[in-house]
Formats: sequence, structure tokens, C-alpha cells
Amino acid sequence: MKNPYPSEHFETRAVRTQAQRSGFAEHSVPVYMTSSYLFESAEHARALFANEQEGMVYSRYDNPSNDEFVDKMAALEGTEDGIATASGMAAIFGALAGTLSAGDHILACRSLFGSSHQVLTQVLPRFRITSSYFDLGRPETLEPLVTPATKLVFVETPTNPGLDLIDLEFLSAVCRRRGLILAVDNCFATPYLQTPAAWGADLVLHSATKFIDGQGRGLGGVILGPKRLIDPIRFFCRQTGPALSPFHGWLFSKSLETLAVRMDRHCDNAEFLAGRLEGHPKLAAVKHPSLASHPQHALAKKQMKRGGGLLTVEVKGGLEAGKRFLDALELCSLTANLGDTRTTATHPASTTHSKLTDDERSAVGIGAGTVRISAGLEHRDDLLADLLRALAHV
Ligand code: PLP
Repeated sequence: MKNPYPSEHFETRAVRTQAQRSGFAEHSVPVYMTSSYLFESAEHARALFANEQEGMVYSRYDNPSNDEFVDKMAALEGTEDGIATASGMAAIFGALAGTLSAGDHILACRSLFGSSHQVLTQVLPRFRITSSYFDLGRPETLEPLVTPATKLVFVETPTNPGLDLIDLEFLSAVCRRRGLILAVDNCFATPYLQTPAAWGADLVLHSATKFIDGQGRGLGGVILGPKRLIDPIRFFCRQTGPALSPFHGWLFSKSLETLAVRMDRHCDNAEFLAGRLEGHPKLAAVKHPSLASHPQHALAKKQMKRGGGLLTVEVKGGLEAGKRFLDALELCSLTANLGDTRTTATHPASTTHSKLTDDERSAVGIGAGTVRISAGLEHRDDLLADLLRALAHV
């Protein structure tokens, strides 16, 4: 980390961790739109390429806008080092492919974002990296699945879209005991609500596309962890090229300045909606970590500051009822994204998790009528009115 701001307070680190300013002494950081950097001499170029001197070489390797974003994320997650990537999936693939080799085995929680599941089951096996799943709600099922080839455990908490949690303290103790790397996708919580490294996770991964950007504008990701683990991942990413554009590095770094304020409002709205919708006669279930009815409510209180901006509802009547509900929404947007200022509603069974089989979906709690709602920053009364009006059409 090059420029951490030494404050114990999240909000101050999120605003004041900054890249070195240019000679113009600008207050707000500029975007460094350059593909390469000037060498002072042929000898300087040689020394940079030989890693004998620190400095910028080429934007696939380093860029001040991206470095500021990574430094801030590392300061907020409490990790030593990190690397920015062009999307959340580039972060996940980069972390796995940069760490593992043919013959290695991954243990993952059964409930994973759809593309992560595809990477584990369709992409990595082509390179002889295999995986198996354990049940998130029963973390004790993990250890018996460890084989001599197991190198890494990969989880999401809360999960997409089931909003199930896993006990990070328990999991990291198992990983330490068995010599496994623990990688956590912290996309749903963000470092404002949960810092997996503080519970012992080794790698923390993000899709910056969600709450970190927070405004539905750009794709990006970040991989965070200790330098010893990030170095081989950095080598992999620098050579294979999933680099974040400097514009997006700048965008996300600016977005982080408002993350705390936005997350509190996302949580306020999600808690309000979940509380008001629970028990609605057209809904079979409402799920949010803040609800006492959430099976892991106590764990949410232990490892998360608040329950997050997402809730799920299970519309009675299955797929057709779920579609009628979505089609009747007037304010909430029908889109696959989440973590936006605008409230979004998604039907995972027919979109983000459509590539899973029915059995795979029901194993992770995705029903035909499950709708994932990402509470935005609109007024909560308007959101509730829209959801109640739509439910009346079911
Ligand atoms: N991880 C989770 C939990 C996600 O929800 C997503 C996208 O929805 C991703 C990773 C992938 O991120 P991206 O779309 O930025 O590649």
C-alpha cells in the first residue's frame, strides 16, 4: 500500500487515502488516462524492467488512478496489498488462476454467484483444477471434504441471491489448521459492513460493479490480501491483461468517498422493506439478515455491522406469479445489476442463475418465485408502495 491515510475511522480513510497529486496541486484527483510512462533514460527503463527501481511502466501494470482505488480498498479491508481488475469475474478468475495449478482442488460453498459456479464447474476443470461444494449452513461439512490436493476455500457471504451467511471465524480457523487459503467474495457486504480479513480470510474479492461504484455506471473488481499471496496473482494479471481502465479506477475511488453514507441508507431501506413485507399473504418468505427470522440472524450480528442492501422475497405461486409481480413494478427497475442508487429487482431462476439445474437451484434456496431486491436510495415509502401495488397484481 503506498498512500494509506492513518485514521482509525472508515469514513476518513475512504475519503482521504489518495494518490500523489500532480504538479498542479489539484484538490480532487485527476484521471490518469495514459497507456505508458516516460523513462528518464535508457538506464532508468532497464532498472524499472529489472524491478531494481520503483516507478510506473505501463498501464496494464500500474496506473495512479487504479493505485488510489486499490490503496483505498486495502485500507478499508485491512489488507497489505491488492490489484484492480476489469470486472468482478476477472478478480475471481485472476485470484484462482493466479494462485492454483493443475491438480489443485477448491472447496467452495454450494451457494455461489452464477458465473463463479460456471468458472468452478466449466472453466477451471479444463486446466485440471477441480472443486467440490460444502453446505454453507453446515460449515462442519467442509473439513471431511479436504483432500491432499485441496489448496483453497472459496465462499461468498452473504450469498447471491440466497443471503445465507457463513461463520468467517470458524471457517478461517479450519483453513489455518489445514493450511488452506481462504478467499471470500465480499461483494454483498462491502468493507463498510464486513471485513473478512479481520476474521482471518487470506484473500478478499470484490465486484466493484455493485455497491462500490454504487451508481450502476461501470464494471470493475479488486483482489486484496497479503503481498505474498498477491504477488503471484499480480504476475498472472499483468501478463494476461484483465486490467481495470484508469477511468474506472478513478470512478470507483471517488465512489468510495460516499460508500459509508450510501450503505447506511441501502441498509435502512432494505430493513424497512423486509420488515414491512414479512408476513404479506402473497409471499411465502422474506429474507434479510436483519430479520429475527433469518436462520443466521445471530451470526449477522456477530460479523456484520448491518444486514446489507439486499432482500429476497418468495412470491407464492411460482414462476408465473413471480413474473406477474416483476411486470407490475413501476418504480423498481428490472435488471440483473444490484448495489445501485436505483432499486433493482431480479428473478434469479430465469436470469443470473438460469444456467444451474433445478436441483442445483433448490439446493441453494432459489425457488421459482424467488425475487432478489436490491434496495436503492429512493424514498422508502415510494419503494414500499411500488412493491405492495405489484403484489396486489399477483
Ligand atoms: N460476485 C458476486 C457476488 C456478484 O453478485 C457478481 C455479479 O453480480 C460478481 C461476483 C461478478 O461481478 P462482475 O459482474 O463485476 O464481473
